Order: sequence, then C-alpha cells, then structure tokens
Amino acid sequence: MQKKLSLLLTPEEAASQHLIKNRVADAAGIIPEKISGFQIIKKSLDARGKIPRFLFKVNAFIDEPYQELPTRFFQFQHVSAAKRKVIIIGAGPAGLFAALKLMENGIKPVILERGKDVRSRRRDLAALNKHGILNPESNYCFGEGGAGTYSDGKLYTRSVKRGDVNRILHLLVHFGAEKNILYESRPHIGTNKLPQIITEIRNTICAYGGEFHFEHKAVDFEIKNNRITKVYTSNGVFEEFDAVILATGHSARDIFSLLFQKNISLFAKPFALGVRVEHPQSLIDSIQFHCAVRGPYLPPAYYNFSHQISGRGAFSFCMCPGGIIAPASTSPGELVVNGWSPSKRNNPFANSGLVTEISEKDWKDFKNAGPLAGMLFQQSVEKKAYEAGGGNFVAPAQRIIDFCENRFSSSLPDCSYIPGINPANIQEIFPSHISNILKQAIRQTEKKMKGYYTREAIIVATESRTSSPVRIPRDEKRLHHPQVCNLYPCGEGAGYAGGIVSAAMDGEKIAEQIAVVLGKF
Ligand SMILES: Cc1cc2nc3c(=O)[nH]c(=O)nc-3n(C[C@H](O)[C@H](O)[C@H](O)COP(=O)(O)OP(=O)(O)OC[C@H]3O[C@@H](n4cnc5c(N)ncnc54)[C@H](O)[C@@H]3O)c2cc1C
Repeated sequence: MQKKLSLLLTPEEAASQHLIKNRVADAAGIIPEKISGFQIIKKSLDARGKIPRFLFKVNAFIDEPYQELPTRFFQFQHVSAAKRKVIIIGAGPAGLFAALKLMENGIKPVILERGKDVRSRRRDLAALNKHGILNPESNYCFGEGGAGTYSDGKLYTRSVKRGDVNRILHLLVHFGAEKNILYESRPHIGTNKLPQIITEIRNTICAYGGEFHFEHKAVDFEIKNNRITKVYTSNGVFEEFDAVILATGHSARDIFSLLFQKNISLFAKPFALGVRVEHPQSLIDSIQFHCAVRGPYLPPAYYNFSHQISGRGAFSFCMCPGGIIAPASTSPGELVVNGWSPSKRNNPFANSGLVTEISEKDWKDFKNAGPLAGMLFQQSVEKKAYEAGGGNFVAPAQRIIDFCENRFSSSLPDCSYIPGINPANIQEIFPSHISNILKQAIRQTEKKMKGYYTREAIIVATESRTSSPVRIPRDEKRLHHPQVCNLYPCGEGAGYAGGIVSAAMDGEKIAEQIAVVLGKF
C-alpha cells in the first residue's frame, strides 16, 4: 500500500532519513518496520514561527517494495540529416532548451554563440575577478549556458502559467542535477554544478546531430521578402535554414542596436535598477530564524521583500544566501554586479539585489534614442558606477547606514566581491528620486527584518541587468516577429522571461511553435 502523508518536522528530524521514517510511521499509525521507504514529494521551510519547521509531503510504501521517485524519460531524434534546420542565436537557457525541443521534433538546431564553451569561459571569469580584465565576448553574461551558468542556479519562478516548470526540472535532472530540485520549494543548483549540466546538454545536442558554433557572434542579417535569409557572424555566414530563434539575452546591446538600424521594430520596456546589498550570512540567519546561531540543521537563511514607495515597486532580487557578489559587466568602463552561490551556499555573506522599477519617465533624457532609450539610461548609470569605483572593475560601495544618512563611509567591512570595493557616495550614481526610493526601501525592510539596517551591511553598485530594457515584439499566436516571419524573438532578451526556468520554458514554447509551422519529421 502507498500512503500520502504531511509532516511537520524539526530541523534535526528533517536532516535524518531515520528520524523522518519514524515520523512517517507515527503519522501512518504503524511501526517503522512496516515502511519499506518513502518518496519526498514536497519539502519547504516555514521560518515564520519562533522555531523553524520543515513541511514535508511524502508518499510512504507500506508492506510493499519501495520505488524511487520516478523521473521523466526524454527521447531525442537523430537530426544530422534532418530536412529542417533552425538557427538559434544564443546558448543560454532559452536557446539550449529550444534546441532540445527542436530535436524532440526531428528538427536540426544550429547554435551560434558569441562566447566560449563553459570550461574555457571560466578562465575569462578568473581574469576579470583577479586582474580586472574583461573579455566583452566571454564573461558572466556571455558564453555557453548564458547568464545563469555561474549563478546561484535558483530554479523557482513565478511564471508557472507560461509552461511546464516540472518538465524543465526533470530535464535538468536528466542532465545530471540532483533529484531534490524536483521537490524542494526553493530549488537551486549552485555555480559549481551548473557547468557540468550545461556540458551534458551540449554533449547530447551534438550526439544527436545538432551543431554548436562558439565564438560566432551574430553581427548582421540579410532579410528578403520578410524572411531572414542569411545570418552573418564574426566567424562566417549561415544560410539555408527555415527559421532563426533570437535568444541573445538582456545584455546583447549590439543586437538591439542592429535591429533598430534595420528598422525591425522593438520597444523600450520597464526594468529594475538599484544596488546589491551584502550582510554577514550569520546576521541574516539570526534575523530569519530568530536565534543567535543557525546550528547544523538549518540551511543558510533566505529573505525577500517588496514595498510600494511613492507609487513604485521596490524589492529584493535574486537573493544569494552564502553567496558572492559577481562582476557581471559586458563592456569596458561599465560596472554591473549580480550574485552567485555554490551548491552548499557556504560563503560567509548573504547578498541580494535591492532594486526599483524604472520606466519611461526615468529615461526621458534619452528619448531621442527611441526604443533604445531605457538601454542607454541603464548604460549611463553603469558608466557612473565604473567611474565611482575608480577603474579595473573595482566597485563603489557604501555602508547602508551611511547611504541612508548621506554620509561617506570612512571604512568598509569585508565584502565578497573579488575585484575589490572602494568607498563612494552611491547616491551620486543614480538620479536622486531613485536613490531616495532605495533609501526608503532599506528603512521599510528594517521594520520587517529587525537588524537588516546595520553598520555591517553594505551596498555595491550597480544592479542594473535585472531584465531586458527592450522588448522585441512577436505575433501573439504565431510567435514570430511581426515584420520578419521566420524570426522568433525568445527568452529574457526579447522581454519574455526573467530567470533560468522561465527562459527555458520560453525556448520550448518557441521551438514547439516552429515545429507546428514546419511540420513534424
Ligand atoms: C550572475 C548571475 C546570476 C543569476 N542568477 C540567477 C538565478 O539564480 N536564477 C535565475 O533564475 N536566474 C538567474 N540569473 C538570470 C538568468 O541567468 C537569466 O534570466 C537567463 O539566463 C536568461 O536566459 P536567456 O537564454 O534568455 O538569455 P541568456 O542566458 O542571457 O543567454 C543569451 C546568450 O546569447 C549569447 N549572445 C548574445 N549576443 C549574441 C550574439 N550577437 N551572437 C551570438 N550569441 C549571442 C550570450 O553569450 C548568451 O550566452 C542570473 C544572471 C546572472 C548574470
């Protein structure tokens, strides 16, 4: 017999298979020996009460043999000789999951990626972190796996209606992710594990006849009769294909400019802008878990918040417990930060974006740039941040108390940001109304998280690549660009996703539509 049960466990119980089994037996009203095993279906942490508790949903096997939690099976077709071929520009989650879906439908994907393979990319990240040398084609945003490869690998999304989230998680397990991502309420993979998964995806795509072309930056298109007929790259021309998926991410400013030059419509779109906040992880643990020390059974604490200030949203973004602040710039002279964590989230700092909504009224000084106005405003802030840091990707930083009280920080605490930090007046980087919103958001967060507003916490600028500042339109039903009927804008860069899972789902959605249009083979 199998029985579904809900359990409320202490952190110590939740950490031990033996103790969970005893609690499963209690809940089922039987002795533990009658239970051959149990599958965890859902696991979440409720830290609202004085003592944090784990909520488990389990499927217990009673007096019958235990079976492991089933994983889905995926079947790809050999496509080396396929009649249909689709160019995918960009090997981020949108591009990669589009490629897999095309192969399920017997269509050959040809992936063009400006950056390097995931392993070579690592050397460029080291040069940036250690020596302040940025490779504009290979960095935290550009290269195999896309922007999320060297990240925390958080896999939760609010876009549950946009596609099959579980399918994406099962695919990740198929390519080597641990099974716990299937049942954790806040699944994450970690920077140390993601590259191997990305490599497995590439190996599969190549083994089934798909193609990868690294260091092939798309630089131009030939368009005839409302169709793309050629894609020019930094390393050669591609022609004779059925469709082009444009999945170049939120940082491909050259692609936005190219579309604009070619009169292919696109629009400025709201995005979020702000700073990254860093606290000691132990402090966040004590605030969130209401205790002096987290102890061995709880994970590093997480937080999120959202406020309405002067009619604008201000919220935390991409919180990385036990994480590192990363230099996520893609061009010289511009400073962008983001965050990552290893799978164990065992670094001594907790970082998170603190951002506010930016819309048309904020980029009015750039309005002559039309659809690129938001992007140019974003870039201007990144340039100011770079100058305030003093060069070499050293980041401007300030204690949050000093920021809120308009004081220069005469000293700064340790920070995880490897290229280094310099004290600066962060409010000078942003228009004053944006700085004021960030200040108010910090004070309001203190009301919810007592201890957040502390001398130990700093802000580092600038968190500016939260989502794309541009939307590339697509036909609502057919999903292609309204002017170019075989061009499919896809993923975060085109404005249809905001995170690894939603980008992957958008890639699948586009590939499915292309399979319908081309017919299945
Ligand atoms: C440091 C960091 C941490 C993050 N952490 C998380 C997280 O924990 N969880 C989460 O859900 N999201 C996270 N994100 C966001 C997430 O990475 C993105 O939402 C997601 O990767 C978007 O997927 P995409 O495929 O649409 O675009 P991208 O991942 O940006 O991929 C676009 C790809 O296109 C390539 N490209 C660009 N221009 C060209 C061109 N002209 N020719 C050829 N190729 C081109 C780029 O090199 C890149 O590989 C993080 C981002 C960063 C930078």
